[in-house]
Amino acid sequence: MIRKPLVAGNWKMNKTVEQARLLVAEMIPDLQGMSGVDRVLCPPFTSLLSISAMLAGTDIGLGAQNMYWEVSGAYTGEISPQMVAEFCRFVIIGHSERRKYFSETDETVNRKIKTALEISITPIVCVGETLAENEAGQTAEVVTRQLKQGLAGFSLEQGRQLVIAYEPVWAIGTGRAATAPGANSVLAEVIRPTLAGLFSSQVAQSIRILYGGSVTPSNAAELFAQPEIDGGLVGGASLKAGDFIKIVKSAV
Ligand code: PEP
Repeated sequence: MIRKPLVAGNWKMNKTVEQARLLVAEMIPDLQGMSGVDRVLCPPFTSLLSISAMLAGTDIGLGAQNMYWEVSGAYTGEISPQMVAEFCRFVIIGHSERRKYFSETDETVNRKIKTALEISITPIVCVGETLAENEAGQTAEVVTRQLKQGLAGFSLEQGRQLVIAYEPVWAIGTGRAATAPGANSVLAEVIRPTLAGLFSSQVAQSIRILYGGSVTPSNAAELFAQPEIDGGLVGGASLKAGDFIKIVKSAV
């Protein structure tokens, strides 16, 4: 099964609209029309309107970094799936920073994925163990639980729409990426088999699984060359046009 790689840039809480526009203007000439890899930018909500206009007519995707699961109503400060869908085809769900700082749980992740799928936005579902869990040898247990609970109740057809990002928390923003064979083995031995159990082996083989955590232009090629790694979710390095472009090119 051939899975087209995908590289997404998670800008986190960085860039004003003006700064975002400058960064995207620098990236478009290289990212536009690149074959063999899907490219997605995930700026903050405030820049989505402006960046979607800049990306109109290009083949570069736009994603949000989060969303609420209710469609509308009295949820002060939240952004609904419909609001995201006005601009985006992708949404990051369950990033470890949301789990850590904003009390997201596998249950809220599940609700968000459900609504994203209902409204035809592709969820990029983040899973990964903390340093303590890793050191305690609990990686498989934690990641399996996150997948089973986060993806509970979805049909095979819905399973096919998912993108999963394996992001060991200890590797995010630390400059200490997982080794390429180490990350690959979590995908091969834990994530894809769990997806096969939840859906079917055929669906599991079709789902793109990204690696995230301190991806840089120097380690991207080795990570993306692993048979199970279908691209990356890139944080810090996606804020520099040159670095992000190099990383995307390594996935082709
Ligand atoms: C992320 O935010 O998803 C991420 C992987 O960050 P970084 O690349 O900076 O480690």
